Amino acid sequence: MSKISFLKGDGRIMKFKSQIKKISALFLAVTVLTSIASCEGEQKKYESELYAMNTVINLTCYGSDATAQVSTELNRLESLFSVTRENSDIWRINSSQGCSIEISDETAEVLNIAEEIYNDTDTAFDPSIYPVVRLWGFTTDSFSVPSKADIQNALKLVDYSKVKIEGNTVTSPQGAMLDLGGIAKGYAGRICRDLLKANGVDAAVLSLGGNVQTVGKNPNGGKWKIALRNPDGGQYLCNILVDECAVVTSGGYERYFESDGKRYHHIIDPATGYPADSEFKSVTVIAQDGAVADALSTAFYIGGLQLVKEYLSSHSGIEVILYTNDNELIVSKDISSSLEFNGAIKEAQTI
Ligand code: AMP
Ligand code: MG
Repeated sequence: MSKISFLKGDGRIMKFKSQIKKISALFLAVTVLTSIASCEGEQKKYESELYAMNTVINLTCYGSDATAQVSTELNRLESLFSVTRENSDIWRINSSQGCSIEISDETAEVLNIAEEIYNDTDTAFDPSIYPVVRLWGFTTDSFSVPSKADIQNALKLVDYSKVKIEGNTVTSPQGAMLDLGGIAKGYAGRICRDLLKANGVDAAVLSLGGNVQTVGKNPNGGKWKIALRNPDGGQYLCNILVDECAVVTSGGYERYFESDGKRYHHIIDPATGYPADSEFKSVTVIAQDGAVADALSTAFYIGGLQLVKEYLSSHSGIEVILYTNDNELIVSKDISSSLEFNGAIKEAQTI
């Protein structure tokens, strides 16, 4: 009898999430959990904690507050992208049985960015991976190690090149199913950045389950300081000093289960149908577009250093911080001078 236990990097968040599920069963669509206003220097600072897109979200606005608008927007995006919510764009595509489906501008935009990253990462990022992700139980939290035959069968449905996006119409092969879990939070960060600015918030930091989007300039006059979590726990790996950008991290430590003493995480290698056997404990990508940063961090985790080097040689404006299985940091040249080492790691190798 195999033993399955669910584990996650942060047990507190799991407990918290189950509490939220109970709360939201009572009060549908209540997502603002806490909201605090304080003063920092000249600027009033508004801090809030929300729950949306299956994750805890922290928002800090300076000068004025737009928590309510961000909360509404995140709920709206979730209702488009969710794989489980009936009548979301993705749910309708996944139930389409080969028929063409009309989707929102936002879903079309995400699917187009996903296509670009799919093509540019040697298909490591493939949002049509859902039949395999579902087989492992990552959607429903009912985890199990599938049989090789089941994985092979599910893999036959995985091929994003067969999903046709023409304007707002998507046509996918019978049985194909999409999952935007590897790109949606980064995209949402970028949309919220623009929404915050449109609502008069010139400086803010939004963290969607660890995917960080900074907005404008830090009101203290310096850069924003983002601490990189150590996948093994304990001290942060390092701080990154940045202006407005997205800082997105992927790693097997973020979501996994154990069966018979072996760990299985949620980032699936489309070449095998198994959790990626990565060279890295975590991959952080810094870019202007949160959707691109999010999709790339997932792809680089799968494709390893060779894919990172290939990608960087033909694209600009993308920075990486790779934490290897040997506990070493490898970083792209232009970000190296923006790192602060006062934690577990003392130096980084540059590529
Ligand atoms: P992230 O945490 O951004 O690396 O995304 C991981 C999530 O993306 C998983 O929980 C799945 O929902 C989805 N996913 C898993 N493997 C892939 C893949 N190869 N390509 C695209 N999305 C994936
Ligand atoms: Mg991602």
